[in-house]
Amino acid sequence: MTRAFVYTARPSTVVFGPGRSAEASGWIERLGCARALVLSTPQQSGEAEALAGRLGPLAAGVFAGAAMHTPVEVTEKALAAARNAGADCFVALGGGSTTGLGKALALRTDLPQIVIPTTYAGSEVTDILGQTEGGKKTTLRDTKVLPEVVLYDPELTLGLPVGMSVTSGLNAMAHAAEGLYAQDRNPVASLMAVEALRALKRALPAIVAHPRDADARADALYGAWLCGTVLGNVGMALHHKICHVLGGSFDTPHAETHAIMLPHTIAYNAAAVPELLAPVGEIFGDRPGAGLWDFAASIGAPRAMRDLGLTEGDLDRAADLATANPYWNPRPIERGGIRSLLQDAWEGRRPAA
Ligand code: NAD
Repeated sequence: MTRAFVYTARPSTVVFGPGRSAEASGWIERLGCARALVLSTPQQSGEAEALAGRLGPLAAGVFAGAAMHTPVEVTEKALAAARNAGADCFVALGGGSTTGLGKALALRTDLPQIVIPTTYAGSEVTDILGQTEGGKKTTLRDTKVLPEVVLYDPELTLGLPVGMSVTSGLNAMAHAAEGLYAQDRNPVASLMAVEALRALKRALPAIVAHPRDADARADALYGAWLCGTVLGNVGMALHHKICHVLGGSFDTPHAETHAIMLPHTIAYNAAAVPELLAPVGEIFGDRPGAGLWDFAASIGAPRAMRDLGLTEGDLDRAADLATANPYWNPRPIERGGIRSLLQDAWEGRRPAA
């Protein structure tokens, strides 16, 4: 039986295919713009400069200062650079950190954004922005931050290191897995979630075996797009809350934290909504959490939070923080269960469910 639902499409243009980042100039013009500020992290400044070179007179300059969790100080520097250069749009080349900077600039200027993603984070198709100021992270949703155009070019991901491909891919899969049991789930987002999990299940082992496998890279980026779309379409629950707590209060790295926590949070929720997580079990060939854990292990993902600098003494506080503000989750959030899943994730133990 089809249950009642609400589905809201988030309007953006998605262009997908090898080599298609070369179409950036045409998209700048179609947006009615003429001076793009190219954004990147310091690590990808070479690629950003090369892109600006290809844009020629359509490039107003490069700002290569993007950083993890969108610090407001960095946004202010980029805003000054945009004003000085007379920029009328932004082209973000990189992962979630660079996309976050483009979104923060769009929030403040309402100028259009083109994003060229080079990881599987998925931020480019959401209207969500997380920012940090004075060490505190806040998250907002605003249609102003949704990028107008996304150019997915799998060729730009051929060199994404295997370790990052694995953790970034699992980070993406977390959006799809939690989307399956979201309170506001709907048939379109659920279809995308299942298709995304299948695409990444196919792609990630192939990338581990042959990092420059063009077909696998295309499958992974396709899956990442779908995962990001699910994240932008429905609400997230326990998994994203715990990762937010661990990243925000204990400074554990974003994609790795998602990769380690995913089997444990899914196992916790599988006990309450086995029917909604059944597709995960089918795709990964076991109970949902255990199947995801085996898959992550088979592609060499990190498995234990203790390897990310979290101490056993941090676990009580992490459990307190993760259970502090009531939020919706398909299974009631109860401290004992959360503390125990944190222990399992810290030790790197295979979940039972
Ligand atoms: P990232 O953007 O911080 O990238 C990590 C590093 O990898 C950077 O140095 C980057 O320059 C480099 N890199 C990126 N692509 C590369 C490539 N192809 N080859 C070599 N190096 C490459 O990491 P991320 O995991 O993509 O993004 C994490 C951030 O995104 C977090 O701040 C997270 O909160 C945010 N995020 C936001 C949303 C949202 O909807 N708002 C969704 C997902 C993630």
